[in-house]
Amino acid sequence: MLSRCKRGGAAAALVLLLLTAWAAAPWVAAASVPAAAWTAAETPKLIALTFDDGPRRSTTTALLDGLAQRGVKATFFLIGAQLEDHQDLVRRMDAEGHQIGIHTYDHVYLTGLSKADFDAQVASTRQALMDILGHDGFLLRPPYGMVDAAVRQNAGCPIILWSIDPEDWGDQDAARETAHVVSNARDGAIILLHDIFPASVEAALAIVDQLHAQGYLFLTIEELFAARQITLKPGEVYANAYP
Ligand SMILES: [Zn+2]
Repeated sequence: MLSRCKRGGAAAALVLLLLTAWAAAPWVAAASVPAAAWTAAETPKLIALTFDDGPRRSTTTALLDGLAQRGVKATFFLIGAQLEDHQDLVRRMDAEGHQIGIHTYDHVYLTGLSKADFDAQVASTRQALMDILGHDGFLLRPPYGMVDAAVRQNAGCPIILWSIDPEDWGDQDAARETAHVVSNARDGAIILLHDIFPASVEAALAIVDQLHAQGYLFLTIEELFAARQITLKPGEVYANAYP
């Protein structure tokens, strides 16, 4: 559906597809596609920014401000223990069209856990998000990307990993992180960053600016997979949406 036809037609087809998927899948955040991005390339390349380990008051606020200025939607995998003090930020993410997922209650390995311990990490965070937002439909990103058969069985939602990891928790060098992501960018990639570091926020916004100039369109995870006509299924693991 991203064939070489008139841009407006392709854009309209994508919007229609996204709206159709939105109605069908409960974990779809409010979808909106910035039409201006379509003018950068005849056939846009699609990519998703994802952020783990937040929210954090200072850095997440700065990131949301920068994304809003650029009309970009991202996906945030949140820590349950950090929700109570940041309910306004969670509501802001949701209201501004970002997608929200679960990154466990206090950032533990999910592999090897009993069902009860798994639920204490994942179901409890899901309930906290439902209490704040009034809806369900949250993706799961296991810390460290660690998945086993029990995690898949207990997840109750799609499991989202990534395809580009600049290891931004390491040297926290925004220029290096930006160069790593931009040089590894490809159509359908999923970028992993952490919105708890100032350098990662700086890198994320530079990545958006540089990849916008290359004709990339930033989508939430659900939008990205809907655009590729891939239906996300509970318990399945996804790390990219390459064409
Ligand atoms: Zn993490």
